[in-house]
Amino acid sequence: MTETPVTDTTFEVHDPAVLAQARRLLDACESGFDMQEAVIAAVQRNERWRGQQCINLLAPEAPTSPAVRTLLSSEVGTRAAEGHIGRVNRWFAGTQYIDEIEALCVELLKQAFRARYADHRLVASMIGNLTVYTALAEPGDVIMSIAQPFGGHSSNRNDGPAGVRGLRIVDVPMDPVELEVDLDLFRKMAPLVRPKLVALGASMTLFPFPLRAMSDIVAEWGGKLFFDGAHQIGLIAGGQFQDPLREGAAVMTGSAGKTFSGPQSGIIVWDDPALTEPITHAIFPVLAATHQVNRVAALAVAAAEMIEYGEIYMARIVRNAQALGAALEGRGIPMLGAQKGFTRTHQVIADVRRFGGGLEVGHLLARANIVTNKNLLPGDTPEDWDRPSGLRMGTIEVTRYGMGESEMDTIADFMARVLVEGQSPSVVAEEVVEFRQGYQTLYYDFDHGLPG
Ligand SMILES: *Cc1c(COP(=O)(O)O)cnc(C)c1O
Repeated sequence: MTETPVTDTTFEVHDPAVLAQARRLLDACESGFDMQEAVIAAVQRNERWRGQQCINLLAPEAPTSPAVRTLLSSEVGTRAAEGHIGRVNRWFAGTQYIDEIEALCVELLKQAFRARYADHRLVASMIGNLTVYTALAEPGDVIMSIAQPFGGHSSNRNDGPAGVRGLRIVDVPMDPVELEVDLDLFRKMAPLVRPKLVALGASMTLFPFPLRAMSDIVAEWGGKLFFDGAHQIGLIAGGQFQDPLREGAAVMTGSAGKTFSGPQSGIIVWDDPALTEPITHAIFPVLAATHQVNRVAALAVAAAEMIEYGEIYMARIVRNAQALGAALEGRGIPMLGAQKGFTRTHQVIADVRRFGGGLEVGHLLARANIVTNKNLLPGDTPEDWDRPSGLRMGTIEVTRYGMGESEMDTIADFMARVLVEGQSPSVVAEEVVEFRQGYQTLYYDFDHGLPG
């Protein structure tokens, strides 16, 4: 085959060395078939390593059930079905079974979240947040949201959908020790800027938010609370965290692939009938056209799994996170929120400055087959995003593979051997692979139910 023509990567944002390696692989191919095989081989390497040999502690990740994975490759994923559910609402004919699938999904989501309204068409939670900012705010409006060092997410800040919508963003005041909203300061600040929306929920969330008190404050000028439950909606569906719609939030979005353990995409739910028109109009025709009906079917099954297993699955995730936090702290790795029991969610956060910082520690642990992520801490600035002080861990995947509190001790031992005792990560990696061999079955689904 001919040489790959484009080799100038001057304006490329991606790591040029990784792109060059891909070009070398493709140049070595003799046919299109070889190119296909190169792609499949990379997928299989990941499946073997991350899927079978690593302890995955990434907080935004969940392994999906076999039923969900099968539906993701189903025939219906090739069908186009824009519009609202129903014969007259669709542009295309022939959608009667698609209507059935989508209606099942909507009704299952309503049931899982005990909400009056739900939408199934968000291909990402980012789009859910843009939906909220499109439906419930105008360019130039003031909103309040949490800054990144306290766990705030770009989607609610200047560099994401909120900024694209032209909103003016004021920080929600946070207490750096309690890792909660500074309610006294909020009470003083909010009336000065009268935000139309206050976005709560964060990528780093250890403790609940004072939603009722904050919603009472902003109600004085008709402001609304928006709960971005990207990380927590599984916990919320399972009744293991606060319940934002019952505590004053007007609307809640979330990622279907984080604690909710479904296909990566977005969920949005609300109770007030007056919000239905603006929200669903922002979804269609503004932000979604073909919305991946295979994904909708998979999301519907994930919701059924949550209805059946959510309460116990999510309770064990939180218990495991608390156990992991205590085990790491006990082995000399300083943890945030130690004074308050470490966490009320699926996450724990370590301050890893003394071990070289979040970037170094994350990559060191990955060499021991333990996957985490670097994270900003309250003392960092947003500009520290590439080399922050913290490390974030989550217990969704280890829980779904049937692990409990004693396994959290084992995982903390592996981590402490690398970070505190300075053992070679490759030596620890061999033991991690062996340990992981015992945990290859997924639970909390209709194939395997509850663990032993
Ligand atoms: C992950 C995350 C998002 C984005 O969700 P996607 O489903 O990945 O688009 C939005 N907000 C918060 C707080 C998040 O943590």
